[in-house]
Amino acid sequence: MTRKKMMAGNWKMNKTVAEAVVLTQDISNQYDKEWEGVDVVLCPPFVDLKPAKTVLDFDKVKISVGAQNVHWEPEGAFTGEISVAMLKEIGCEYCIVGHSERRTLFGETDEMVNKKTRALIAGGIAPIVCVGESLAVRDAGETEEYVCAQVRAAFAGLDAVEVKDAVVAYEPIWAIGTGRTATPEQAQEVCAAVRATVAELFGEETAQNMRVLYGGSMKPENVEGLICQPDIDGGLIGGAALKAASFRQLVEACLS
Ligand code: PEP
Repeated sequence: MTRKKMMAGNWKMNKTVAEAVVLTQDISNQYDKEWEGVDVVLCPPFVDLKPAKTVLDFDKVKISVGAQNVHWEPEGAFTGEISVAMLKEIGCEYCIVGHSERRTLFGETDEMVNKKTRALIAGGIAPIVCVGESLAVRDAGETEEYVCAQVRAAFAGLDAVEVKDAVVAYEPIWAIGTGRTATPEQAQEVCAAVRATVAELFGEETAQNMRVLYGGSMKPENVEGLICQPDIDGGLIGGAALKAASFRQLVEACLS
């Protein structure tokens, strides 16, 4: 089974509309037809989604846009929130859910991650479900148990057909934005455990088809060792996605 690799840039709370247009244009300018061999996704802040999509559509490049968050209710009195339908209408194909920053800074629970995942799937947007352990959990030797429980919780109530386009991103919290990367072996071990959990839940075929990404200080200098691991199907990139040159190197690492 060969899964198509994915490189997704999580811009977090960076780039005004004007800056996002410049970065999207820079990335688009580097686009090569070869990139069609990778699913390339830009996840800018909400306000930048439509402007970024407009640039990509105008240039006719096969790069998708994804959101960083969503609310599970279809509409209503939820001040400050954005619905699946709003994202869908502007051409969003992916949405990150359960990023560790949302879990730790904004109180996002496994139950909320599950509601968001289900709402996205019902609305035709592929969730990129983030899971990952803290240093305390790793030091206690409980990484796999913890991460696999997050996977089970995120996909609760869903079936194999529903999860077929979902993506899981394994992001050890201690490696995000710290410059400290998991070794390829550490990352592979947990990504394999994630896939085994998906197999338990939905069967081997679904597990073999699902992309499992690694995220946490992935950059051009360390991408090669990570991307060649059998259960790592690409990256969710923070810092290195904010420069077109480094993002291009990460995309192109998926092609070699
Ligand atoms: C992230 O925020 O998802 C991430 C992996 O960030 P960084 O690459 O900067 O560690």
